[in-house]
Amino acid sequence: MRVLHRIGPGIGPCIRPFRAAALAFLLAPAVAAGQSLPEVHLIGTGGTISGGAGGPLNAADLRAALPGLEEVATVTTEDYVRIGSSRMTPEVQFGLAARVAEVFSERPALAGVVITHGTDSLEETAFLLDLLLPAGRPVVFAAAQRPPRFDDTDGPRNLLDAIRVASSPRARRLGVLVCLNSQIHAAREVKKTHSIALHAFDSPDTGPIGLVDDGEVWLFSTPRRRVHLPAAAAEARVELVRLTAGGGAASIRGAISEGARGLVVETFGRGNVPPPAMEAVEAALAAGAVVVFTTRTGAGRVVLPDRLIRAGVVSGEDLDGLKARMLLIAALGAGRSPEEIAAAFRTLAGGPG
Ligand code: ASP
Repeated sequence: MRVLHRIGPGIGPCIRPFRAAALAFLLAPAVAAGQSLPEVHLIGTGGTISGGAGGPLNAADLRAALPGLEEVATVTTEDYVRIGSSRMTPEVQFGLAARVAEVFSERPALAGVVITHGTDSLEETAFLLDLLLPAGRPVVFAAAQRPPRFDDTDGPRNLLDAIRVASSPRARRLGVLVCLNSQIHAAREVKKTHSIALHAFDSPDTGPIGLVDDGEVWLFSTPRRRVHLPAAAAEARVELVRLTAGGGAASIRGAISEGARGLVVETFGRGNVPPPAMEAVEAALAAGAVVVFTTRTGAGRVVLPDRLIRAGVVSGEDLDGLKARMLLIAALGAGRSPEEIAAAFRTLAGGPG
């Protein structure tokens, strides 16, 4: 993996920028006095939008390919990593969040940050940043389904739209956003729903929160299902297991024997778990892991019997397995108890907290 900015074992001290950024987010103007154009910082991480895994285009190249940018924003660039997003890890994602916080605290006049990212794990990275960063100035993810070598690449259009959103004071305090195919999605809601189609991202429960139409940002709802979990580190040892007819128990046991500290189990229906998988879950709890149940159905809450809650299982409510894992990574990194983690899941489901 080619790492172009500091990440890795040194991420612990990055909590300082998160705190400084919380204040800077609140105080900074969207446009500095005397400036005609908003300032946006573009952070490249790789993906199809940059030409593929470790792609040939860096963030400055992507900026150079945007027609009319000079009328939209002044854009500075950096490359954080250049990788296909199937190679993202919690450590890299956490380091990226810390870098965003640092940029905001260093640049009070900055309107917003845009991050280019592969589509494969975009919903995970965007949601982790949504949890870690305070909701202030916009952080907007852009990606592409079709690479720059295609005549009908969607990259430049998606990126310019994302820059317009990041430039807009109206996009403040909405949390981390994802902008593709003219639509603006909240990080908590968005999912990649198609491997190749141009319209590959959707927010199935809530729909998009807005769109970019002919260069104008239209916003029609405010994401309410958000929690802020500033963490001193990411707890990367969190696994996701999907239960299947007759399967899942071996994966749970395997995850625990490999040292998992957290486990998200995508259960049947509203939280049904057959005996062999339940025995593996009990062994995981006995080993000290935090276990979260979600549903493999794709929508709706799990409803757990009291005996399971008493045994220590946390309800992931309606959060999907990918995002429940991100929450557990942030929450365990923030030192939260199972009760506090359960409360975070309730808030993210829109429940009474
Ligand atoms: N393989 C790519 C990635 O980095 C796919 C994409 O960006 O669309 O996720």
